[in-house]
Amino acid sequence: MNYKIKDLSLANDGKKQIEWAEMHMPTLLEIRKRFEAEKPLKGVNISAVLHVTKETAALVKTLKMGGAEVALAASNPLSTQDEVAAALVTEGISVFAWRGESESEYYNNIESIVKIHEPHIVMDDGADLHAFVHEKMSSELKVFGGTEETTTGVIRLRAMEKQGVLKYPVIAVNNAYTKYLFDNRYGTGQSAIDGIIRATNILLAGKVAVVAGYGWVGRGIANRLRGLGARVIVTEVDPIRALEAVMDGFDVMPISEASRIGDIFVTATGNTKVIRVEHMLNMKNGAILANAGHFNVEIDVKGLKESAVSVRNIRPYVDEYVLQNGKKIYLLAEGRLVNLAAAEGHPSEVMDMSFANQALAVEYLVKNKGKLQNKVYNMPIELDYEVARIKLKSIGVQIDELTEEQKGYLEQWKSGT
Ligand code: NAD
Ligand code: SAH
Repeated sequence: MNYKIKDLSLANDGKKQIEWAEMHMPTLLEIRKRFEAEKPLKGVNISAVLHVTKETAALVKTLKMGGAEVALAASNPLSTQDEVAAALVTEGISVFAWRGESESEYYNNIESIVKIHEPHIVMDDGADLHAFVHEKMSSELKVFGGTEETTTGVIRLRAMEKQGVLKYPVIAVNNAYTKYLFDNRYGTGQSAIDGIIRATNILLAGKVAVVAGYGWVGRGIANRLRGLGARVIVTEVDPIRALEAVMDGFDVMPISEASRIGDIFVTATGNTKVIRVEHMLNMKNGAILANAGHFNVEIDVKGLKESAVSVRNIRPYVDEYVLQNGKKIYLLAEGRLVNLAAAEGHPSEVMDMSFANQALAVEYLVKNKGKLQNKVYNMPIELDYEVARIKLKSIGVQIDELTEEQKGYLEQWKSGT
């Protein structure tokens, strides 16, 4: 069996979802048109671990139309859209993913997509697949390149490079301007709030919202929460980012203080145990906790489970924990990414750019096979510009061009005032 999914009979629904995504992904579709004609990925096996969403389906179809064979597993046990997984199987993609898979099933599925074919390119979101390939696969690896979709994955790959253990070149797709400025900031800014609202249906206006981390994701969430009328507090460990948050008009304070006044907490740090039981014990009765950063580690879910007196599910993606002090705390989506579990992840318009970068990064790795070192490379800037140009064209926005005089002016240094 070259797939393992929830229910193949959901394929028709999935096809319609994918069509809806593609309608909003003109950049990727433009690249797909060229891939279909040129087949730049002919003979290339790609093993990919990404959220199995309608947007990922649009990417995977593009890679296949470019000539690649693709096997796909989920990058999060709670994010798979089962109807999309089914539709992809009918398109000839080997999918191993279903919503609600256990942790061991998650890793088994990752294993399946590297066993089903000999991967040449490894595409990942969070570096679990890169780690698996490095730790569990033999030395005669056929992989000649990899890509990485998200901040934490890039951090892990850089650690592998530093330790001298990275076995193939990796393109940090996350670090493209046309990725993180839009996906991490505006994508998560909207979809994390979408997840919180779908899960809870609470009113955000007038609430005190605490955002942990003022990176690209945190900035997006803090700004969108403010736009909905919440009073937003930011917590940080980086003095420059904390200062930026202050000058953007947010209150900044340690989590130990913020935990006493927040109604809703959203983590976006990529770090572990940012909200711990000691903070939860400070919280107001009814406080809501959500994570939009990485895996299920930012909120200390394990500590919460161990110290809670009781737990019950209240509604989908909302679990009520009664603490030893009698207060009730509500954890969304088991502390996993609230935007992908309780909602549908980023809107297609944003993933259009992220996945256009993924497609171009794979093509770049194929074109430069054997020429790159075993390092983490940033997305080549000319490809980043290409994505921006196609996106602008697709939304009907024109910009100016430098005149010859302006080009010359910018290249010289002698003309004073
Ligand atoms: P970033 O590096 O730009 O920002 C992270 C910020 O968190 C930094 O400013 C850092 O100083 C801060 N931080 C670290 N530890 C902290 C702590 N204990 N308390 C408070 N702040 C702390 O990264 P980013 O691009 O914003 O991504 C953040 C996380 O979100 C990463 O794990 C990334 O992979 C993930 N991500 C999730 C989504 C999604 O769809 N939910 C989208 C993009 C990125
Ligand atoms: N796999 C880890 C890492 C964070 S995921 C985890 O699940 O915790 C964060 C990534 O999800 C982002 O970089 C973003 O590009 C991707 N993402 C967000 N919305 C998506 C969507 N609709 N489809 C596919 N990927 C999406």
